[in-house]
Amino acid sequence: MSDGARPAPRPRTPQGAARSAVVIGGGLAGITAALALADAGVRVTLLEGRPRLGGLAFSFQRGELTVDNGQHVYLRCCTAYRWFLDRIEGTALAPLQDRLDVPVVDVAKPEGRRLGRLRRDPLPVPLHLGRSLAAYPHLSLAERAAVGRAALALKGLDLADPALDTQDFGSWLADHGQSARAVEALWDLVGVATLNAVAGDTSLGLAAMVFKTGLLSDPGAADIGWAHVPLGELHDRLARRALDSAGVRTEVRSRVTSVSAMENGGWGVEVPGERIETDAVVLAVPQREAYELLPPGALDAPERLLGIGTAPILNVHVVYDRKVLARPFFAALGTPVQWVFDRTRASGLRSGQYLALSQSAAQDDIDLPVARLRARYVPELERLIPGTRGAVIEDFFVTRERTATFAPTPGVGRLRPGARTKAPGLYLAGAWTATGWPATMESAVRSGVSAADAALRALGRPRPSRLFAFEEAA
Ligand SMILES: Cc1cc2nc3c(=O)[nH]c(=O)nc-3n(C[C@H](O)[C@H](O)[C@H](O)COP(=O)(O)OP(=O)(O)OC[C@H]3O[C@@H](n4cnc5c(N)ncnc54)[C@H](O)[C@@H]3O)c2cc1C
Repeated sequence: MSDGARPAPRPRTPQGAARSAVVIGGGLAGITAALALADAGVRVTLLEGRPRLGGLAFSFQRGELTVDNGQHVYLRCCTAYRWFLDRIEGTALAPLQDRLDVPVVDVAKPEGRRLGRLRRDPLPVPLHLGRSLAAYPHLSLAERAAVGRAALALKGLDLADPALDTQDFGSWLADHGQSARAVEALWDLVGVATLNAVAGDTSLGLAAMVFKTGLLSDPGAADIGWAHVPLGELHDRLARRALDSAGVRTEVRSRVTSVSAMENGGWGVEVPGERIETDAVVLAVPQREAYELLPPGALDAPERLLGIGTAPILNVHVVYDRKVLARPFFAALGTPVQWVFDRTRASGLRSGQYLALSQSAAQDDIDLPVARLRARYVPELERLIPGTRGAVIEDFFVTRERTATFAPTPGVGRLRPGARTKAPGLYLAGAWTATGWPATMESAVRSGVSAADAALRALGRPRPSRLFAFEEAA
């Protein structure tokens, strides 16, 4: 328990009283499920093993800096995460760009740095990106034309076709005339950051979902948003405030050790020192933990959860003694550096500048010692950002998330279970469940909504009118 004292075990809810639910896991999926259930009048207990809420998207203190474990961005098309921000009253703290604009700096050529931009015009799809693509200097004219043709072919793919999940995106791109350069300078530039894998390691189904939704649905779909405050301000402090005012009993440092069905149809949830009896359980923990906690018979093939791989993300944090970069962020080519964000204001740094490098699909780097990472990345930053050349580095550190996301490999789709299990009253949530989205904050929130929807139906409670509504299929 957060305060060290555990109340005595509570009896199961008597007949006719408010129904109860326990949500296990205080990441975005669990927070969402807890809020949705509480908003419907269910008595909710949220149990989180760590000392804070927010799961994989959190902050910690390092001297005067408040550091995010990893830079997180979302897109305008992330409608569920945007609903979540609204629900916790955090929208103003994580604004969206008015219009997609990504500076892309290429340092591959010996003659020096070259800046390109991926941005949109106020035109209908696909014309909104036409001018930017036509002027994109990191691809030849022929490559730009081929990209346009591949985008149209992508648009024609049917996301409901399960065969898409059996193929890899890299082969599909090659079959559609994409050069290695086009993959590096465009498809992987976006895909690695959103899917956490290079095209060759990615399910065509997931990649098509990302590119169709982000770039080929609504003109503003790919406008980028990110927290201008530490992630913990949103996913821990504001989320906690929303949970408290919805009446959720939230317990951190409460690691669940078992979930078992009771003879009366309810569920028993054990944390050290307490057993909670409840009508419904939402298991919103990562797939391995879910596998370990699932009671026998809850899924037909529970071992499939162990087949869902994971992929790492590394963040490299560099604090300079002076301002070295004028832009809020940029993407890089021709260097191991992927995306660079200015975290100065968000972290509370009062002088100098704090840059965070977000390195996805970081299998090669994730276990390197800090000194090796420093030797690798500092000279690259000097190539990319001239202002760093005379600057003093006041702090250099890294954050490693070895299981940042599930690996979006071909075939992963059939391993991801939905919210319902075979055990009545037991539901699954988590970015890794079958939301159709890659492992993102959007997927986590969607999964929490789906689990709450399923639980509410079984508990006979009305869906709260302010809950995120899934789009009707076209
Ligand atoms: C470095 C990094 C960068 C990322 N970048 C982006 C990005 O730019 N955009 C984006 O959309 N997404 C990004 N993601 C992914 C995003 O953070 C996750 O998809 C999302 O936060 C997952 O939420 P979740 O609730 O499904 O799972 P989690 O966040 O994993 O939450 C599960 C929770 O369950 C708890 N738990 C586990 N076992 C137990 C137990 N037995 N009892 C109680 N509690 C338990 C855990 O402590 C954890 O808090 C990034 C992730 C990382 C790590």
